[in-house]
Amino acid sequence: MWWLVFPAVLLAFVIFIIIRAFLFKPYDSQAPKIQEFEIDEENIVNRFSKIISCKTISNRDLSKVNIGEFEKVQDLIKKFYPNIFKICEFEKVLQTGLLFKWPGEKSDEPVVLMAHYDVVPANEQQWEKPAFDGIIENNELWGRGTLDTKCTFVAILEASEQLIKTGFKPKNDIYLSFAGDEEVAGPTCPATVELLKQRNIHPAMVLDEGGAVVENVFPGVRGKCALVGIAEKGITDIRMSMKSSGGHASAPPPHTIIGQLSQAVVDIENHPFSFQLTPPVSQMFDILGRHSSFVFKIIFANLWCFKPILNLMCKKTGGELNALMRTTVAFTMAQGSQAANVLPPSAEFTANLRLLGKDTYESAVLHMKKVTDNPDILFEVIHGSNGTTYSSTDCIAWDTIKNAISQTWPDALVSPYLMFAASDSRHFCKITDKVYKFSGMHLTKEQRGYIHGNNERISLDAIYNLVRFYLRLISLV
Ligand SMILES: [Zn+2]
Repeated sequence: MWWLVFPAVLLAFVIFIIIRAFLFKPYDSQAPKIQEFEIDEENIVNRFSKIISCKTISNRDLSKVNIGEFEKVQDLIKKFYPNIFKICEFEKVLQTGLLFKWPGEKSDEPVVLMAHYDVVPANEQQWEKPAFDGIIENNELWGRGTLDTKCTFVAILEASEQLIKTGFKPKNDIYLSFAGDEEVAGPTCPATVELLKQRNIHPAMVLDEGGAVVENVFPGVRGKCALVGIAEKGITDIRMSMKSSGGHASAPPPHTIIGQLSQAVVDIENHPFSFQLTPPVSQMFDILGRHSSFVFKIIFANLWCFKPILNLMCKKTGGELNALMRTTVAFTMAQGSQAANVLPPSAEFTANLRLLGKDTYESAVLHMKKVTDNPDILFEVIHGSNGTTYSSTDCIAWDTIKNAISQTWPDALVSPYLMFAASDSRHFCKITDKVYKFSGMHLTKEQRGYIHGNNERISLDAIYNLVRFYLRLISLV
């Protein structure tokens, strides 16, 4: 009978896995009471359109920044939102930072609402309509910054102005923190954080741009998911270089330094960084996995046994799923000799890495040195910023954001996620462990493609919902 043991064990195992998938049911959640707000739709859109027509293009080289355009925005908001300026303490931070303190009933659990009002340049020849005219047509507002992220900038101001006008006073102090150099990773946000740190302010919640309400992004889940970033991957550029005595290409060594560096690139690509299931990703699998189709439920309910298969799958396919679970390396630049018949006296390859979990740019260099095993290669970190800490989802701040999202998009599943892109809010991790990244908009894949791309535009409904989202959020904090 011994030959029956193996099939019996296998069958028991399969049944066990399937039962676990059956029991992997969505968490109970109660729909919050929806607070309705009347908003002045037409005027909101007109004001937003005027702010879009300011060409606030940031640049690392300050001499190339037209500061007048940023001042235009500052003049407009003074005109549009007089009650904010009346009630809030206002100060400028460096050249473009705008910091408002809206006094609440108490100050011990302050909240920070962030946005940036600088934009990336637009390649206007490729646009169907001008990028800085604020054209309103077919229920859409066109222009650079409509999605990234003058929309949140305007919505925060609109919601605050409206609530102040009705005599509302928040429970806690609210800081409105706006920067004009986010797109170039400028110094404004770090300076703002430093200022708050000196004042001993440790926010109970920071909300900045980030995730959105999206569809078809999670395996087996078709409905709307509101993804709120609770951490960001780190980012670094690492250069590998070699030197040689050069010489004529007619009598080369068996491997030129380009050959040796190419081998190193292949070695690095063939030895991916280790697979890690970090809290934002395991929480996302746990929340969204429970709403997934049965086949995927089998995987997400049994990650303890499917992890190696998932790892293998990710290694093979690369892409977004892989990027959620390991540090990625993309070699993007290469340089060698200046002429085809001259051996390169020096050569270099540069990689862009997105760091996950325990990996830092220092440990990434060690990993790359180890797998390439060539002492003649010089590794240099051109610049590096490690991943952020993970913000909690077991706290009032998370519940509040979730509540405001569920009021605005009642059919969306709210889940934490890990951001691949870097945003200004990462600097706030210095003074709080509650930093969240969510741009309160429902965006299709096509609309997400407009961000930093051509024909950026926002639907008027999205603007109204965004303002309502902030009205609800502010009412709760
Ligand atoms: Zn942005």
